[in-house]
Amino acid sequence: MKASDIEEGRVATAQGRPEAKYAWSAGESIGRFLAELKEGRLVGRKCDKCGRILFPPRSFCEECFVRAGDFVTLKDSGTVETYSISYIDTDARRLEEPIYVGVISIDGASEKMGFMHYLGEVKADELSIGLKVKAVWKSKADREGAITDIRYFKPTGR
Ligand SMILES: [Zn+2]
Repeated sequence: MKASDIEEGRVATAQGRPEAKYAWSAGESIGRFLAELKEGRLVGRKCDKCGRILFPPRSFCEECFVRAGDFVTLKDSGTVETYSISYIDTDARRLEEPIYVGVISIDGASEKMGFMHYLGEVKADELSIGLKVKAVWKSKADREGAITDIRYFKPTGR
């Protein structure tokens, strides 16, 4: 069959626009994580074998190969592990004012559970590895169960 067979009507065709509805499940661990974000809380999940607090929560411990245990509520504060100052946006357009993005170790989570998010209310020369930061949340009415329910992390004490 060639394209011309379709174009010239030698093949039966039908046209239509399906009204497909989609639902998507984030799964047990990330589903709970997102639901807790809507309530203004961060949760991790404990591995009962090695004792690590997995953050963001996941359903199994990748080191022990066992199912993760209970969810644990964590503080919404942490420490900057590394950061980047970006003068381009997500569409690679030049920005007048840079955006700051950091990898944050959330207080109460185990090591190597870095969490990437925006840093705000801070100037470039104030950024440092080891800086203590705290989440700045959207208002409860504006939260929707997404990582953007946290607007950014700001230096603790601001
Ligand atoms: Zn483990």
